[in-house]
Amino acid sequence: MRSITTFDLQYAHRFYKFQGEAQYLHGHTGKLTIEVEDIIEPGVNMVYPCNEIQKVAWSLLKNFDHALILREDDPLLPAILETYEKQGIKNGAPSNKMKGEAFKTQWATAYPDCRLVVTKETMTVEGMIKIVYDLLKDKLNIAKITFTSGVNAASQEYKPVGTVDRCPLCGVALVNGICPKCGYRKH
Ligand SMILES: [Zn+2]
Ligand SMILES: [Zn+2]
Repeated sequence: MRSITTFDLQYAHRFYKFQGEAQYLHGHTGKLTIEVEDIIEPGVNMVYPCNEIQKVAWSLLKNFDHALILREDDPLLPAILETYEKQGIKNGAPSNKMKGEAFKTQWATAYPDCRLVVTKETMTVEGMIKIVYDLLKDKLNIAKITFTSGVNAASQEYKPVGTVDRCPLCGVALVNGICPKCGYRKH
């Protein structure tokens, strides 16, 4: 069975050097759906509480919301950073509060202080799925990721690694046999 959670992400990007309108900077509300698969944990009668999937994923995905996403070789990148620097917002601003955890993976680096994500490849819907899976694969038993943005949509299925021990009281994954939320211990 699967527990399914959807997120909205508002971002600006462009397809650098793409022969089409998308080579110009533009924005979207993207919809990301993450499907977590496992056997049902009988204590809570759930695969995984969706609000907990939200919490785990959003701590990192926040980086893509109200953010600019540019490929590492895009000449807009130094131009934007220079402008942010001059304006004094490159290293943060008092109003920039909803910040995600900074991260660096093989596909992307997040700079929460200036709401920027720098990607290795063009951030298409396919590219975003690769980025998200890589960020969350060790935290959630992901069976499928779907991403839609404007008229573009893509999805990828994954083979979950098997079952994860979850707390019978709150449904979250146990860490070394202990629930990080309520302290329940597996005997
Ligand atoms: Zn686009
Ligand atoms: Zn618990």
